[in-house]
Amino acid sequence: MSENTTVSGVEIVLENVTKSYPGQKDAAVDNVSMTIPAGEVVVLVGPSGCGKTTTMRMINRLIEPTSGRITIGGEDALSINPNELRRTIGYSIQQAGLFPHMTIAENVGMVPGLIGWKKSRISDRTDEMLDLVGLDPSLYRERYPRQLSGGQQQRVGVARALAADPPVLLMDEPFGAVDPITRGLLQDELMRLQAELGKTIVFVTRDFDEAVKLGDRIAVLGNQSRILQFDTPEAVLANPADDTVAGFVGSGAALKQLTLMRVRDIELSDVPVMGEDESVESMSTALGRDPEAWGIILDARRRPIRWTDRRHLTNAKSLRDVGVPMGEMVSTQSTLQDALEALLAEGNATATVTGKRGEYAGTITIEALIDTIKTIRSQHAHDHDDDHDNTAEDPDPDVARNDVTTGNAS
Ligand code: ADP
Ligand code: MG
Repeated sequence: MSENTTVSGVEIVLENVTKSYPGQKDAAVDNVSMTIPAGEVVVLVGPSGCGKTTTMRMINRLIEPTSGRITIGGEDALSINPNELRRTIGYSIQQAGLFPHMTIAENVGMVPGLIGWKKSRISDRTDEMLDLVGLDPSLYRERYPRQLSGGQQQRVGVARALAADPPVLLMDEPFGAVDPITRGLLQDELMRLQAELGKTIVFVTRDFDEAVKLGDRIAVLGNQSRILQFDTPEAVLANPADDTVAGFVGSGAALKQLTLMRVRDIELSDVPVMGEDESVESMSTALGRDPEAWGIILDARRRPIRWTDRRHLTNAKSLRDVGVPMGEMVSTQSTLQDALEALLAEGNATATVTGKRGEYAGTITIEALIDTIKTIRSQHAHDHDDDHDNTAEDPDPDVARNDVTTGNAS
């Protein structure tokens, strides 16, 4: 988002900010200092409970710092009346936080109303904001939040946060509750808006990919909001500050690679395959003594129809009568990401791969996928940073979501 032409935002500075909640042994936020440049999107990314929300809410004084200083546009936030302060700071949260008994127009126009705008100006502004977030005002103004989808409610939440044209926008996991596709669209929308608006945006997320996508800068946070790294996404990806950050980066980067590579790009394994006409004995011989071994029965056009193991073959007369219908298969055209999902969905260590016209092409194993991820990770580590050897870690199955909460930060 660095190509902004207009900057309407102001700089935010946190200096040695600490928050200790009463009755808690450790501070929720411990001595955090950070400068958020005017007109930039700074994303705070870290695991659940690391203090992101507390840090963010001290900026608009929904939470009072225990010690330290915060300035907004050079003004000491603690010296500004909290209600006035909040009117200059848009705030958007997960589930949109809309008032259910107010119409969409009333929700969007609430802050302008509080600061004394005339009715006609509020009405114009409300339409403008709904337009801006891609909702037709004539259709949505008079509706109630429950009549909108989750994604539409989030759009209204963003429209409301922007309505009074605040220089600063705080967004706390605003897209956390919507499905991945809607989430992607909302992210695109926010980037488009920001290119026009040039606000100072502090955005909180647990999703490292979201941080990389949206941030001009990202602050990777550890416990008590300790800043592990604060830099551009490119710099964080290229040069993770420590092993924890490298863990987020490595898994994210490797999984991004998995969507770029196809099954045909990696070496396939094989299991015994037989046509339906072949004998039970020949399949039995091919499977050998290994009780875990299994084979595939093909139709006349070499398409896999059933799989079988030794137990199925005992007492069987013909391969036409034995085996279990094939589960989900992957194609040589599938991405490695698809293959990984098929393996996870079936709960199997091996998936069957079909090539042209659905013919048997081989099998792909979880080990082969893990090896590929490791290779990508080590290449990534060599390309960018010889200090960190990501290959030593076993890939964590949870990293598929790339949610840093499930990473190794805590
Ligand atoms: P995050 O947004 O990163 O999930 P939070 O800022 O919500 O983290 O919480 C940081 C820590 O402070 C957590 O350990 C949480 O349990 C604690 N905490 C948050 N709010 C309160 C509160 N009102 N009272 C006491 N402890 C709190
Ligand atoms: Mg939070």
